[in-house]
Amino acid sequence: MSLTDTVIIGAGPYGSSLAAHLRARGVDHQILGRPMLAWRNYMPPGMLLRSEAFASNLHAPRSGFTVEDYCRQKGIPYEPMGMALPLEMFVDYALWFQANLVGEIQPVDVVNLRRVDGHFQLALSDGRSLIARKVVIALGLKGFAQTPPALQGLPERFVSHSERYGNLGWARDKDVAIVGGGQSALGLSALLHELGARPHILMREADVVWYQRPQAARSILSKLKGPDAGLGRGWRSLLLSECPGLFHLLDNAWRERIMEKSYGASGAWWLHDRVVDKVKISFRSEVRSASIDNDRVVLRVLTGNQEVSVSADHVIAATGFKTDMRQHAFLSKDIADEISVNGGLPELTSNYETQIPGLYVIGPASAHSFGPVMRFVYGTRHASPCVARHIAGSLKVGATQRVWSAGEAPMPERTGE
Ligand SMILES: Cc1cc2nc3c(=O)[nH]c(=O)nc-3n(C[C@H](O)[C@H](O)[C@H](O)COP(=O)(O)OP(=O)(O)OC[C@H]3O[C@@H](n4cnc5c(N)ncnc54)[C@H](O)[C@@H]3O)c2cc1C
Repeated sequence: MSLTDTVIIGAGPYGSSLAAHLRARGVDHQILGRPMLAWRNYMPPGMLLRSEAFASNLHAPRSGFTVEDYCRQKGIPYEPMGMALPLEMFVDYALWFQANLVGEIQPVDVVNLRRVDGHFQLALSDGRSLIARKVVIALGLKGFAQTPPALQGLPERFVSHSERYGNLGWARDKDVAIVGGGQSALGLSALLHELGARPHILMREADVVWYQRPQAARSILSKLKGPDAGLGRGWRSLLLSECPGLFHLLDNAWRERIMEKSYGASGAWWLHDRVVDKVKISFRSEVRSASIDNDRVVLRVLTGNQEVSVSADHVIAATGFKTDMRQHAFLSKDIADEISVNGGLPELTSNYETQIPGLYVIGPASAHSFGPVMRFVYGTRHASPCVARHIAGSLKVGATQRVWSAGEAPMPERTGE
């Protein structure tokens, strides 16, 4: 068993940025998880990032580690906007960031997290145990995929969720129905079409909302009317991108209203020409039920007032994510119940701390408290310095009250809940 002040669970953009900040502050910590796992394994090769290059930086405690710095070092042409950052380049950038600013990342999973005598005990997939005073959960969208009830009973080989897409080679020459009208649905449809599959998008919306291509040179007036921000153009985007602390001050009803109305289904500008007139799209379409017939999925779809049937070799649910902390199987029941305040949503303090002192949540699962920016890498700008400052400060206070030695550390208990 080893002791540490802080454990970060997750080695994606959020966990890595926080680790860089803790390291810079000299806070004893360990970071667990497979480096950039979701981006390396569960996103399709050839994907382009939806976020602009300037909004895709992991947040460093000092200058010199942005996507722009990375491109300069590697001799890659860089544009803050309109560059359409390839997935592979972003992953390489993040690994470069980790190599320079983050200490050793332990590529293990936490299989159990529980409280013992006011500390946290973590059981790891390699059989080891850790005791920590502070734990930060930075697990991204893992476990939050939302599949419509109509598709839930289908055998796995006929249905999948867009959260887990690596190589799409299996789909060549196949009919693939994609349910959803957002970036994931549109992006997958373009890649599938280009590799020789026949994608068919079924979306509830009456049309696709396309983001406009950013213009590099704009007049001052145009910039005043609609400033460029991490989440897109406009004053509303600017506020939501730069002031997550203000969002945190709002009451629940306001937060929910903003979350509902912000950044709904839409497609990046660079997808427009790859999708329009190339991919079949059925608008105002909702899947009512699904069955398997003759080794194919048959979807009953309500399109306008008509029910039609759509047949495919496979159906992909590109239907988004819903935060529910209870989906994290490694959390002990008492922790899961205590932090899942509002139907699975964690209610966080202004320092990202949950109802359980010393337990923090950052990344997409903190969006209910800090707004839509937390669903994007851009949110690391606010989360990592804020949490690092709070942890460093409270550990200092704790250190004067209690000196933690191996002799008085809580004993590990049996795990396997
Ligand atoms: C298809 C797609 C495209 C996207 N495009 C963009 C984009 O263009 N721009 C943008 O800003 N955002 C984008 N996002 C959102 C983006 O994925 C998230 O904002 C971001 O990855 C969240 O980072 P994170 O560090 O919280 O988690 P992740 O990057 O998901 O990392 C999770 C980490 O947790 C670890 N882990 C998981 N389980 C355990 C466990 N039990 N124990 C220990 N470690 C564990 C994993 O190994 C991994 O290291 C996209 C999302 C999807 C699905």
